[in-house]
Amino acid sequence: MRDPAQPCNKRDPGSGCAAVRGFNRLHAIFGQTDEGPKSPFTCIAVHPSDMAVAMAALDAAIVIESGRGARRIAFDDLHRLPGNDPSRDTNLAPDDLIVAIELPAFHGRSHYLKVRDRASYAYGLVSSAITVEMDGDQIARARIALGGIAHKPWRLPAAEAMLAGERPSEDLFRRAAAAGLEGARTYPMNGYKPELARVLVARGLAETTGLEPLQGAAGTAFAASVGGIAGVREVA
Ligand code: SF4
Repeated sequence: MRDPAQPCNKRDPGSGCAAVRGFNRLHAIFGQTDEGPKSPFTCIAVHPSDMAVAMAALDAAIVIESGRGARRIAFDDLHRLPGNDPSRDTNLAPDDLIVAIELPAFHGRSHYLKVRDRASYAYGLVSSAITVEMDGDQIARARIALGGIAHKPWRLPAAEAMLAGERPSEDLFRRAAAAGLEGARTYPMNGYKPELARVLVARGLAETTGLEPLQGAAGTAFAASVGGIAGVREVA
């Protein structure tokens, strides 16, 4: 995208996509549009931010004002997949202004984990944001959002459904992670992403529910630690 000598439907709509048959190690495994390198619709870029991924796992809402009035949308509807217009990253109109972000009351535990190539100046290869609310020793509700695998923060509804009403266990978390990553479509250079995502989700669930002790740095956002783990944050 950044090399102006290469085609890119996001930077130069209609020009094609250099990544889809080129260097695609960092690219999407869900929700991408792939109709070949010359198609005006092809884009396999990912959404790599951290805050938006966390917002997705918190079921945030966005309040928008424009000349047409005010409206409120679910955070999941803010960012978009490439579809037939890869140049657009969000569903906002040109005159829309985000005036507030609403976070619902939350009484559980949350966890953010990101793996990247370097400890700084690198986006996450895959990141996971997890929130869990317990009812006694059972999981009342879990929400999981991943970054770095799709054009928008990517929720795992199949995994979330498997977790509701269950007691935490390593087997459950591995099966839920596997269900959540079913259907991934990889490329020659990013075949590692589904397994990396499964590991992050299973580990994140284990640490969030207390099944495993929290590894990395707790209580600080994005504190660096060894092994390429760039950020772990626990909210009590
Ligand atoms: S993946 Fe999307 S952003 Fe990257 S080169 Fe292709 S069209 Fe451009």
